[in-house]
Amino acid sequence: MTKDPLDSRIMKESYNKIRKQSIWKACFHHDNECSNEIIKAHSIQNNKILNKISRDGNVMQFELEIGNPFGSKMKKEGRKKVSTFTGFCGYHDAKLFSPIENYDYQPGNKEQELIFAYRSLAKEYHAKQTCLKMTQNIISLLDNGQFSEVNKIFERKKPSIEQINYLYEIMGIQGQGFAAALFKYENYRVAFENNMKNKKYHNLVTNVIVFDEEYHLAASSLINIVTDFSGKIINDLTRLDAYLAPLFINVFPQDGKTYVLMSHYRRDKERYKFLEQINKYSIAHKKIVLSNILVKYVENIAFSPTRWEELPLKRQEEINRIFAETTNLKGETLVSFHDLNVFI
Ligand SMILES: [Zn+2]
Repeated sequence: MTKDPLDSRIMKESYNKIRKQSIWKACFHHDNECSNEIIKAHSIQNNKILNKISRDGNVMQFELEIGNPFGSKMKKEGRKKVSTFTGFCGYHDAKLFSPIENYDYQPGNKEQELIFAYRSLAKEYHAKQTCLKMTQNIISLLDNGQFSEVNKIFERKKPSIEQINYLYEIMGIQGQGFAAALFKYENYRVAFENNMKNKKYHNLVTNVIVFDEEYHLAASSLINIVTDFSGKIINDLTRLDAYLAPLFINVFPQDGKTYVLMSHYRRDKERYKFLEQINKYSIAHKKIVLSNILVKYVENIAFSPTRWEELPLKRQEEINRIFAETTNLKGETLVSFHDLNVFI
């Protein structure tokens, strides 16, 4: 199905307008020490990491094409804008992240690993709050009879009663999903902050994979892996009440190496035992496995424009296609694309 450019432009504008109105602005850590101003906090270290992989101040990021469920492309984005989120006050952003912003990562440093994971959690919490607000804003537009505004996001035609009811239903279901996720994240937050305060690091297990080369990509996210290498269910996302085992993932180049940190709670050790195998693989196979995890699950990822443009066009298109296709469908096993490599 092709859409005319006007359609997608109007849809994009309306979508962006509602999204902008819905952005969550508050301090994730909120306590009585908060400073007044909510700042644009970085979820990926700006000066050292994004600077390293940027060209003329820009990096590349995936962008799903609005109105085309199977389309995605790479867009150039200013490194100062990339991966920032309005999720911390100035005081807490500076205080909490100092050990990973002002110091290089030292493999095995449990405090730094906890802070990396906490920052991934905060970024995801912010994204889910924004999505929840978006569904609420769309529902209020429906309530107020502003159908044309709502409908522009989806398609330009005047909606039928059935379509309006369908939208209500979809927004309701999505909203419930976001609210359920936020409820879990709020519990994670309290546990993380207690552990940070008391310097208790043993509840978080981090698998570290190191490449002896700098690849020019960076990522930070909280993900729920659906299946392992053999197709065994790790997280059942079809049930709202299912116990989920979050995986906090951070990827960055540093000092001639590339680090991949995958952290999970100690209580989920059995579920994530399969990740321990990755370190036994060959370098080429490690890249394939980790690329599958990153492209299928992570949205907050940035690449170097120079390295990306060096990839043959066919490769670029394939990576974009896989990113879009796997937004909702993760495949039967974790590694379903056997020559995917984003370690560029
Ligand atoms: Zn604060």
